[in-house]
Amino acid sequence: MTWGNGGTRRIGPALGGLAGLAGLALLHAGPAATWLPAVRRLLPGLAGVGADTHVALTFDDGPDPRTTPRFLAELERLGCRATFFVLGEMLDRHPELGRRIAAGGHEIGVHGWHHDNALVARPGRMAAELGRAADLVAAVTGTAPGWYRPPYGVLSAETLIAARLHGLRPVLWTVWGRDWTRSASPDSVVAAMTPGLRGGATLLLHDTDHTSAPGSWHAALGALPRLVGACRSAGLRVGPLRDHGVC
Ligand SMILES: [Zn+2]
Repeated sequence: MTWGNGGTRRIGPALGGLAGLAGLALLHAGPAATWLPAVRRLLPGLAGVGADTHVALTFDDGPDPRTTPRFLAELERLGCRATFFVLGEMLDRHPELGRRIAAGGHEIGVHGWHHDNALVARPGRMAAELGRAADLVAAVTGTAPGWYRPPYGVLSAETLIAARLHGLRPVLWTVWGRDWTRSASPDSVVAAMTPGLRGGATLLLHDTDHTSAPGSWHAALGALPRLVGACRSAGLRVGPLRDHGVC
């Protein structure tokens, strides 16, 4: 099976394997921690495993005018680019922020329109909203998005097919910061992510608390300099998924 981004890249054992993984997701519709190890083992490209000299930095759920500009400023200060997986409903309200993300040299991917779980949405809804969000990203930034990350990491056959139709390659993550919780702090985010900071990793953080505990974005923002610094100290480049050389 080929995906739009990169044109001819192949992603593991094609739809049969993906359908099996969707089945796994069905069993574990909550946080994807229990089934992500299987994804990483069977479909490293889907998990976001990339080149062993690079770490991909990704942010979900924005753009949010209260918080995203702070992340953009910090990334600028760090000399770092990232991939932002935006929600259509947020980008629709704040298109100028989408343009600002793109103008900063960052990449924009699709996270959906609302933050819905593919396994509980009525049939057809996720596919339609995924397409609507992809079209909006293209209209706002002038660049068609290349990546799709489903909310909660839950893929369904419907969203996989819709992503392919819109030229979006599904990608999850290899390590998350648990930055969305009420008790998260910069220290807790660094501690959660440090074991996974290695070449080829895809890091998941959030540039907003839109779907998280109020104020939780402070934890991700505060952790950023140490996370980027740790990668660079290990000789790893940090950047967006387009530079990641995803398997
Ligand atoms: Zn999300």
